Amino acid sequence: MSSQVQAPPPKTDENRSVIDMSKMSEGQRAALQVTEAARESHDDISFVAHLFMGRWRPEKLYPVNEVDAAEKMRADAFIAELSAFLRAKVDAEMIDRTGEIPDEVMAGLARLGCYGIKVPQQYGGLGFSQTTYCRVCQLLASHCTNTFAHLSIHQSVGVPQPLMLFGTDEQKQKFLPRVAGGEISAFALTEAGVGSDPARMTTKATPTDDGETFLLNGEKLWCSNGTRAGLLIVAAQTTPKLVNGKPRTQITTFVVEAKAPGVEVVCRSQFMGHRAIYNGVMRFTNVRVPRANIVGGEGRGLKVALTTLNAGRLSIPAASIGVAKRSLQIAREWGGTRIQWGVPIGQHAAVAEKIRRIAAHAFAMEAMLLVTSRIVDRDKKADIRLEAAMCKMWGTEKAWMCLDDVMQIRGGRGYETEQSLIERGEKPYPVERLMRDNRVTTIFEGSSEIMRLFIMREALDPHLTVAGIALNSERPWGERIASALKSAGFYLWWYPKQWLPFGGAVPADMHPHLAAYFGEIAGWSRKLARTLFHQMIKFGVNLEKRQVLLGRIADIGSDLFAIAATCVYAQKLLKEGEPEVKVFALVDDFRAQALLRIRQNFAGVSRNADQSGYELAQGVIKGDHQWVERGIL
Ligand SMILES: Cc1cc2nc3c(=O)[nH]c(=O)nc-3n(C[C@H](O)[C@H](O)[C@H](O)COP(=O)(O)OP(=O)(O)OC[C@H]3O[C@@H](n4cnc5c(N)ncnc54)[C@H](O)[C@@H]3O)c2cc1C
Repeated sequence: MSSQVQAPPPKTDENRSVIDMSKMSEGQRAALQVTEAARESHDDISFVAHLFMGRWRPEKLYPVNEVDAAEKMRADAFIAELSAFLRAKVDAEMIDRTGEIPDEVMAGLARLGCYGIKVPQQYGGLGFSQTTYCRVCQLLASHCTNTFAHLSIHQSVGVPQPLMLFGTDEQKQKFLPRVAGGEISAFALTEAGVGSDPARMTTKATPTDDGETFLLNGEKLWCSNGTRAGLLIVAAQTTPKLVNGKPRTQITTFVVEAKAPGVEVVCRSQFMGHRAIYNGVMRFTNVRVPRANIVGGEGRGLKVALTTLNAGRLSIPAASIGVAKRSLQIAREWGGTRIQWGVPIGQHAAVAEKIRRIAAHAFAMEAMLLVTSRIVDRDKKADIRLEAAMCKMWGTEKAWMCLDDVMQIRGGRGYETEQSLIERGEKPYPVERLMRDNRVTTIFEGSSEIMRLFIMREALDPHLTVAGIALNSERPWGERIASALKSAGFYLWWYPKQWLPFGGAVPADMHPHLAAYFGEIAGWSRKLARTLFHQMIKFGVNLEKRQVLLGRIADIGSDLFAIAATCVYAQKLLKEGEPEVKVFALVDDFRAQALLRIRQNFAGVSRNADQSGYELAQGVIKGDHQWVERGIL
């Protein structure tokens, strides 16, 4: 039976409808159909996917494979050169103040090869691994978030990443050398009515009579790099496909030349931070795009976009690490030197608590990203959907927590701009700028809410594969009964195992201190698996509506992954000669903090006020409690 879960039947658009959509509105149904059809599927699921099923697969995480020695040498030299360039030429404060990255900075970045870090050398790129790319993102974001965003959007979601994943040889030959050489690229998915829900996309690409060209029409919102780009990845609706006699939205992605007639930058958008993100509203009017510029096949655009985001998603958590480390550096310096009430403020317990929190989470963020990017480097096709989503959701939220902590530690100076600090002759720690720049990271490239839904959709997938048809009122009774019988067999075998009271096997060469923590994750994962199962039984097909409850379960999974990753990373650090006492201090403290959250979240699964809270919110929206707003303008 277990093999049934690990090797599900090939998932096609049609046989994948294990989710009961009968009680959904047309809009919800359309959104879900489109995203379900675009889901990645893997027969060999990841460490975290197994964790949600109460299965212990440490070999998927451990040991961390080393970066190739030749690459490491090259990467170290590149990072040293880039660091020197950033220090000498990239004035982050000026870029933020003026909203412009100077042309000479862009030219310098291009000279260093920063526009094609992962692009294979045969196409003019530097051909670095995911791990090296993440190191670069961390470095850039710790110094200048605008420069990070510019380069990351260009290569994580702009032309390089989707072409490396889905491009034809001709497309790679034609476009990759251009983008690796410094021609800026952008990614245009969002529209005024399309944020988290691409099924509502209105931009259309209509084939001409000979079928060799498409006419692109529509307007895209918030296209970062868009106002400076030479090439764009644009997602558009193409001719709908008939599924069971009903039209199903088809989304296709194209490489579009920004200079093509009919492409227009309507306006440049301005934000709270990221002031030099060159973000624009882009209009397309009868833009002729050759069929040869379709990426990944007609109708597969959302899959291209979601897979690109999945792989590209690691750059934002890498930046979050840079931000958390910068917060730590500031907290350490200021906490140790600012004297109030007779001692450095870092000696007051309330401030020390914040410093401890920043240190432990910066360490854990790095651990999670390191193990995930090494999996990518080991096998580009490996399943990292859950790990990447957790790195993004958890990492960006924890980076924000670190920024909030360091803002508090800096007191009034945290709130003061760098320019003002300089004018007063004080050291210009950029806390105010970092906060403005980084608030958006829990919103774009997959908001935290969508990431939690995504995590839980993937976590539930093995259950849906086993029992989804039995629960789906849209399926014929015969199919449902057959599926129910099969799933009963599975659960009779699976469920009792989730009560086994012991931990999991640990790698023989792992330090006993770490192995004890690592192995206990197996026990927690069984508790996680049976908790999820109990909620499935309790709520049935309505479980998907219990977003807050599912969010707690996603958070437990993320913290468990984080603890596991810190053990694996710590073992690597010990091997490299870091002193045990220093490494264990962080591992121990992070585990203690994460376990507090895990216990709290488990308690919240059974005792909560989610339903009454939901009803209150609906009452607020209807206007029942508008009286609370009295007294404001
Ligand atoms: C600075 C910046 C740069 C950007 N760059 C780009 C770019 O280069 N290319 C591009 O295509 N887009 C870009 N975007 C758009 C960005 O990806 C979207 O903002 C994001 O996808 C969210 O869409 P939205 O803002 O319309 O929010 P909405 O989708 O309207 O969501 C609003 C809120 O509701 C929540 N929500 C939505 N649906 C659900 C649900 N089903 N369940 C629970 N909660 C839900 C969201 O999480 C969010 O909190 C950028 C945005 C910004 C601010």
